[in-house]
Amino acid sequence: MENFQNLISKMTLEEKASLCSGLNLWYTQGIERLGIPSIMLTDGPHGLRKQTGDNDMVELEDSVPATCFPTASAQAATWNRELIFKVGRALGEECRQEKVGVILGPGANIKRTPLCGRNFEYFSEDPFLSGEIAKSHIQGVQSQGIGTSLKHFAVNNQEYRRMTINAVVDERALHEIYLAGFEIAVKGTQPWTVMCAYNRVNGTFCCENPYLLRKSLKEDWGHEGLVMTDWGAMNERVEALKAGLELEMPGVDNGNTEKIITAVQEGDLDKVILDQAVERILDMIFKADKTLKEDFTYDAEVHHALAREAAGEGAVLLKNDDNALPLMKESKITLLGAFAKNPRYQGAGSSTMNPTKLDNLYDEMIKIAGEENIAYAPGYSLNGTILDQSMIDQAIEIAQGADTVVINAGLPDVFEVEGFDRTHLHLPESHNKLIEAVAEIHSKVVVVLSNGSPVEMPWVDKVQAILEGYLGGQAGAGGVADILYGIINPSGKLAETFPIKLEDTPAHHHYPGGPKTVEYRESLYVGYRFYDKVKKDVLFPFGHGLSYSTFNYRDLHLSQKKLTGQEPLTVTFTVKNTGAVAGKEVAQLYISPKTPTAYRPTNELKGFEKIALQAGEEKTISLTLSPRAFAFYNTAIHDWQVESGQYSILVGASSRDILLEAEVRINSFQDDISIPDQDQHPAYINFPSDGRVSQADFQAIIGHKLPSNEIVKGETCTLNTPIADMRHSFIGRMLHKRMSKQVQEMVSADPDSPNALMMKSIINEMPLRTLLMFSGDLNRGMLEGLLMMINGKFFKGLSQLLKSRA
Ligand code: BGC
Repeated sequence: MENFQNLISKMTLEEKASLCSGLNLWYTQGIERLGIPSIMLTDGPHGLRKQTGDNDMVELEDSVPATCFPTASAQAATWNRELIFKVGRALGEECRQEKVGVILGPGANIKRTPLCGRNFEYFSEDPFLSGEIAKSHIQGVQSQGIGTSLKHFAVNNQEYRRMTINAVVDERALHEIYLAGFEIAVKGTQPWTVMCAYNRVNGTFCCENPYLLRKSLKEDWGHEGLVMTDWGAMNERVEALKAGLELEMPGVDNGNTEKIITAVQEGDLDKVILDQAVERILDMIFKADKTLKEDFTYDAEVHHALAREAAGEGAVLLKNDDNALPLMKESKITLLGAFAKNPRYQGAGSSTMNPTKLDNLYDEMIKIAGEENIAYAPGYSLNGTILDQSMIDQAIEIAQGADTVVINAGLPDVFEVEGFDRTHLHLPESHNKLIEAVAEIHSKVVVVLSNGSPVEMPWVDKVQAILEGYLGGQAGAGGVADILYGIINPSGKLAETFPIKLEDTPAHHHYPGGPKTVEYRESLYVGYRFYDKVKKDVLFPFGHGLSYSTFNYRDLHLSQKKLTGQEPLTVTFTVKNTGAVAGKEVAQLYISPKTPTAYRPTNELKGFEKIALQAGEEKTISLTLSPRAFAFYNTAIHDWQVESGQYSILVGASSRDILLEAEVRINSFQDDISIPDQDQHPAYINFPSDGRVSQADFQAIIGHKLPSNEIVKGETCTLNTPIADMRHSFIGRMLHKRMSKQVQEMVSADPDSPNALMMKSIINEMPLRTLLMFSGDLNRGMLEGLLMMINGKFFKGLSQLLKSRA
């Protein structure tokens, strides 16, 4: 970090405090007198969303054209570090052109359940993969002298009540699952910024959580950048500074600057803490400013081509019976599905951006195979989830004579929206029925899916091929067309398990919780860690993905047979392309402790490599495991520990396709450390296959009684109470009504659009304090007055309200 001491010494207390909040929605404060510029920070994560209109919440949807790369689900499914680096680099270039200093992403939250409405913005259910992909993304962006904001830190795994929910999670799951990916990315790349999440973790809001920010992020992982709030995530400003949160965003007139000043003056906040915060903020501003001083222009065509490449690598061939794919160019194809002409390519919410151009599958297939070979019918209406039999009949009619029928199905955009979780894993009935009806009359049906997160597939055995195209960005359709016609060989693999049905998912009984808490009772058993532990069948396992080639694995070799838990282990093996065409394979390495004392998942991903092989070519892959790959988080010492014992090293093509195995013995240097008594929580040793964990077992691993999850009648409301939960009072009802009306007006042009849905959900879940972000006429004193009125102190509150208004 550059030395800013001289500059800081010239700043007044007021200037320092002012720098700790933004100027407005997207800009940091500048201080002209000292030559401190104001820089822009904006979304992210898979494309630049630079608002064109005013810096307010009204014009959210208008943004400058930028390349929409595949969303995070698809990026992770590439398992390709170099490619994601290139995507990051391209994002950085677009920021340079548009004079944006920090892009708000990537999102590295773990996919605890496929229902989370923002899963399309997150990478994986596995922390190692999530961390590695985040790392490449960050390295790419930052190679351009542009900052990233690794988000949402931490344990933000649902949208339901995201602004207030208290995630109750045990210490092991916190470190081994929810923090591990962030840790990899932070240690490996030093993201310029980390964005704290809205929610509470174990009782404390992320913005003021010293355990997360000060201890884990800063002290244990050595993060040198700054922490900013998610937009409106600030609770108590001074507490947040003490806990290690430097920058509040957006900048609103909420009295927090004055609070910082007073706290320093009254000795409640050490001046050193403020100076350290200012130093980190200045470092970000000046780094960005240095880059942005130079003009830059990116090549939109080159970025579009890169987006196509990434989409092609992120699409996963789930099934391909009888070599239904690839298609021959001269085959007669019937293409069905309204998405084929109006693609689903990104999710809704703060990441929704304006692409430079947009490919569709129909045109892309015609470009490859010619118009004469592609017949088309929509089969279902674009937004309607209601079945329209006449559309199915029309589809059947034109499907009859085709050599192959390709059906583009998926989730309509209102299913995947920030602020909302799904409540089921179904495709719309109209999509399912179309697929079933066509499969009845045709023996070569290929389903192409456009969705950001897993869906149930009741027709899985009735169709010949399934290609998961995810939300592939503006060139997603091109990437899919390349795979369909074998122009590229599919090489994506799932970064998440596709369960057979929702009821099979590990958090099913303990999600989404609320109104106050959500209990992470499944602890470590997230994703494949659960399905493998309880030996449950899945639709498609983690790491799965087919190719038009075949690959042979052989010659597994370990650098040592015995370890002490302090040295790395090098694992080598050879992969050969035994197919007829060139292809890429993602070789995966899992470890499996054979004799653990503490409860452990059966297999855990600890290494992977994607390699390109010509037909007949072979390569030797070498993966190095650090001691940490074998460690678990021991709650007795609050640190990582490698336990003695036998460990299997498993290498394969997916979590359920292990092809090579060897064992290593660890005689650990940490053997004198005791391991907590496991008898207190038997459920975690033999985990129940229905995922139902008793309160007693869960309390044993969290080490205390469950916090209350009820809104008690007559309970005092606070600034953190959602406005919708205040409707028992007259003022609360009025406030909610007024906010709802304002939102209705804001979204009146398109009240059923996904972003309108998001705004409506925000109103229902936002705590009272976030009103300051939306309404310029309010200040903190007025809010406190309102709160008194809601809590029954009508006249006292009214007088405070009027006083503060003046
Ligand atoms: C989202 C963030 C986003 C921010 C700014 C928040 O609502 O959670 O991911 O970066 O808004 O748009």
